[in-house]
Amino acid sequence: MMTVRCLLLLLGMVCARTTGTADAPPPAHRAHGNSPAVASRLPDTVSALLFAGFNVRRLTVNGPRGMCMNGGADTARVHTIALAGGALVVDGVKASGCTLAPPASGVLELSTGRKRKRLSGSVTISAGEDRLVIVGYMALRDYLAAALSTEASGSDPMEFLVALSAVQRNYVASHRGRHAPLADLCDVTHCQLADFSGVSPRIQAAVARAMSISLTAGEGLPCYYSAACGGSTLTPAQIWRTAEPGYSGVICRHCRHSLRFRWERTIEATPEIEAIIRQAPSPPFIDDDFKIRLGRVAGFNKALSNTIDRLERRGRRYVIAGRGFGHRVGLCMEGARELARHGRSAVDILRFYFPLARVQVQQ
Ligand SMILES: [Zn+2]
Ligand SMILES: [Zn+2]
Repeated sequence: MMTVRCLLLLLGMVCARTTGTADAPPPAHRAHGNSPAVASRLPDTVSALLFAGFNVRRLTVNGPRGMCMNGGADTARVHTIALAGGALVVDGVKASGCTLAPPASGVLELSTGRKRKRLSGSVTISAGEDRLVIVGYMALRDYLAAALSTEASGSDPMEFLVALSAVQRNYVASHRGRHAPLADLCDVTHCQLADFSGVSPRIQAAVARAMSISLTAGEGLPCYYSAACGGSTLTPAQIWRTAEPGYSGVICRHCRHSLRFRWERTIEATPEIEAIIRQAPSPPFIDDDFKIRLGRVAGFNKALSNTIDRLERRGRRYVIAGRGFGHRVGLCMEGARELARHGRSAVDILRFYFPLARVQVQQ
């Protein structure tokens, strides 16, 4: 069993990128409507570590009539699960674990008091060292719908939604098992953000259509996306020093109207901030570690990307200016949304951002 300390170390790597973690062995080919190269690496169900970025010690689970608890019939429908003295306590009674499963098509509502999730699937809760370990199990499509509705709106152009979902699906296929043995993925940016706050029929339709579009590069499955590239995309080799097929630097002016195309922020010059800035290269530079180091101290709304054009001291503050939002690798979401608004198809969008990859539509 992975310790919570190990889990925290993993979660400390705040960016959706691969580190070459060993994926679980691929399951036998299953009919997902995708090419065999993609479908053979897609599971039927996904397990996700929920509330992964939060130190949850108390959880309320509200289920529908017909819910099962630990495999048996459950009549309570509302359960309070807490960590007390290092032990799991379910409805006031110590327990070794707790599994709650709604009836088919039922939904569980999970609440920490401050945050809520709605899950179309079952949940298992166990005691970690300093928090509850909460794992949700759901159909692949429900997970993908949650991931898509977190990054996009149901009112976004359909072709943008389909293109983004195809990339997010590739992330599952290539990174599943990242949190083994606890779960396949987590629900924060370490893997893919998925807030499980409910999805619209339009989002579900986009996920279903994306299943028929494969995006491959030899054995590779391009899977990265960021909010805005700021004028050109980067490759994994440029920022993570990992050679992955299917990526190239793409000139993208389609995100130029974004507020994050070029940005400037002001940061208080505290001793901690000064120490980080002293170690930074001279601008302009691209450095993902700088973004993460600064973000941990100043907040991730200060250095919006890894690309810094200017860093100036002004009195007791620093002014930091850069381009793009996120790691800038792969699909640029604001650019893709704009392309879809101008009539480009999901396939066009994928071919634009991944010109070295192969995009195919399965009939
Ligand atoms: Zn993760
Ligand atoms: Zn762009």
